[in-house]
Amino acid sequence: MVNLYFCSMKGKDKSQKRCRWLWVAGLLLLFLWLRQLPLYKPTGAIPFEGPYWYNPYQEVHPGGQWLRANFHAHSNAWGFVTSGRKNTVEDIVCKYDSLGYDIIGISDYHRITNPFAAGDAAGTPRGRLFVPVYEHGYNVMKTHQGAIGARKVYWNDYILPQTWSQKQHIIRKLKEKSRLVVLHHPAWMGGYSKKDMRSLTGYDLFEVLNDFWISEELWDVALSAGRPALLIAGDDAHNVFKQTDLARDLTMIFAGMTDSLLEDPEDLLEGPEGLLKSPEGLLEGPEGLLKSPEGLLKSPEGVYRALESGAAYGIEVTERLAHSSVAQKREGLDALPLLQSCKICSDSLVVVLSGEALQFNFIGQDGRLLKSVLCEAGGSTTVGNSGNSGSGSSSGSEAGGSTTVGNSGNSGSGSSSGSEAGDRCASAFYKLRPEDHYVRVKITLADSSHIYLNPVMRTKEKNGKPQMPPIQKRRLFTIFGT
Ligand SMILES: [Zn+2]
Repeated sequence: MVNLYFCSMKGKDKSQKRCRWLWVAGLLLLFLWLRQLPLYKPTGAIPFEGPYWYNPYQEVHPGGQWLRANFHAHSNAWGFVTSGRKNTVEDIVCKYDSLGYDIIGISDYHRITNPFAAGDAAGTPRGRLFVPVYEHGYNVMKTHQGAIGARKVYWNDYILPQTWSQKQHIIRKLKEKSRLVVLHHPAWMGGYSKKDMRSLTGYDLFEVLNDFWISEELWDVALSAGRPALLIAGDDAHNVFKQTDLARDLTMIFAGMTDSLLEDPEDLLEGPEGLLKSPEGLLEGPEGLLKSPEGLLKSPEGVYRALESGAAYGIEVTERLAHSSVAQKREGLDALPLLQSCKICSDSLVVVLSGEALQFNFIGQDGRLLKSVLCEAGGSTTVGNSGNSGSGSSSGSEAGGSTTVGNSGNSGSGSSSGSEAGDRCASAFYKLRPEDHYVRVKITLADSSHIYLNPVMRTKEKNGKPQMPPIQKRRLFTIFGT
């Protein structure tokens, strides 16, 4: 434009020669600017493969503890610039304490809340853990990310609708400055597309459940592309005085992973988020923290590792509970059944809850429903097209009439405890097939709340979690980019 302007002045005081040089300089600048844009190679969509299964719940057992967590809530950090202006950090901590949460993170935009200050402000933390997090992103399409275990804020963002490479670049930069990177509310406003899900890599967690948007379909796209995108759920609370902003979508984190953490005790004790550097660690010493009277493991690093391994699940509560008071909500949350175990026994995935459910859905590659177990008075109904063999049909029949609908070869396999009156719907199983790449379970509880479990995934190494494909820059960006 500048060139054109000057060139249009030819004949006045600008010579033809100068005009030509301006054009050359402009083109050169444009060329250099284009080269500075992040350019990455898309990594292919390759489904999970291998002779073994990675089960994120391998260590979950009935005696373990589940911790209630929320990592997505906004305070009044930015005044009138963002919503969240009605909440102080103290308000948020107080509300989540009242709801019985064990782990809290305040995800202000581009600001890490000081856990020590929040702890002081809210009084004694009664064993509740505060984790440093923030939400990244100020672009028009709400392509946002969460940084959990954040050490430093990464300020850059691309305001206009982002290219795939720009999204990949942000993920890479966030990962350099935080322990875990989350894709926040991915399907909301088209923040991330299906194409993005088949190409992006290098993130850790996927906010499947968010108060504004459920991104279940997009999650299956990422999983089907072989991305071990593990689940997280968040309230995205902007006004904790509004009933429906609180305890809508919970993350439950298993706290009984002490043994695996102790395999690397030095790292745990002395790492950047190590116990010795946490306020509780200083007060009570590492041993006290590792095994509190309830056997809970509570350190930021313990939380990160549990999330990273997938020993967590999400709960989407009902509208009715969402509109109830804090006290009623707490009562409702306390009454929800917990995951007791999720095991692979022989070739079957067996899920057991501590209470009854209405329905278990087993979902696989491309979001396909593999099997549905409907719990009814006097028995269970199995719907599916999985082609599983019909073994185990006798137990369903004994329960008083298990019915198979569709072309399922799962006939009558229904609930694994179908023969036991009283808890016939506390568990269900799915017979894994050679062609399954991943299988996840979605459970409808008696009050119509939903539990979303992380998937079991095919893997090439025994007990090894499948890895995200490596991030690869294009050659031009390797030369000019950072
Ligand atoms: Zn957001």
